[in-house]
Amino acid sequence: MQYCSECRIRIRGREEKCVLCGNTLLTPNSDFAREEIFPDIPRAYESHLAIRILVFISFTAVVASVTIQKIFPAAGNWPIFVIFGLISMWIGLIVVVRKGHNIPKTIIWQVAVVSLLSVFWDWQTGWKGWSLDYLIPIVCVSAELVMYITAKIMKLSIREYITYAMLDCLFGIIPIISLLLDGVKTPYPSILCVAVSIIFLSAIFIFQGENMIKELNKKMHI
Ligand SMILES: [Zn+2]
Repeated sequence: MQYCSECRIRIRGREEKCVLCGNTLLTPNSDFAREEIFPDIPRAYESHLAIRILVFISFTAVVASVTIQKIFPAAGNWPIFVIFGLISMWIGLIVVVRKGHNIPKTIIWQVAVVSLLSVFWDWQTGWKGWSLDYLIPIVCVSAELVMYITAKIMKLSIREYITYAMLDCLFGIIPIISLLLDGVKTPYPSILCVAVSIIFLSAIFIFQGENMIKELNKKMHI
């Protein structure tokens, strides 16, 4: 924005003379000028479509899991875990989007706090193993989903994609460790978690791999 001191108006664009009086325009060193050079890019929501799809998937998952459970009741009360996973994913997503900055750090804190609390609680209530069997894999999968969705709805920098790739590996490795250490009685959630993290990791590399390699090369040269 430029400013005409005669007419006391602001003029868009890069005119040299005022369009009304022909007076030479000032390029103020105030906010107007900066406004145009560094537009305030909102960390914004490229599309709310991703959120609608997510709401739809959540409902479908709940209905499908309850339906399957009614048809095959022998498999136990696992829809509870689907619902718990979805709730933790939504809470995580809301916290992450609200905070807006340093998303990877927020996600890692959430996962760490919830995981440690669950292990502690499990241990205090006579170690039934539910924390390693179910809770940590569910939390890891939720975190992977939150990363995927924030990548979809917010403009991430390439550096954040690289961090996401590393976090994704981490969330895939945690259940592998508990599987290898024989700490798991019901392996399915952990296996599922590893599979999901491999799928998301491949997605990051397939869609952002080139940009990530460019970014890394830049770093190497500097
Ligand atoms: Zn003027």
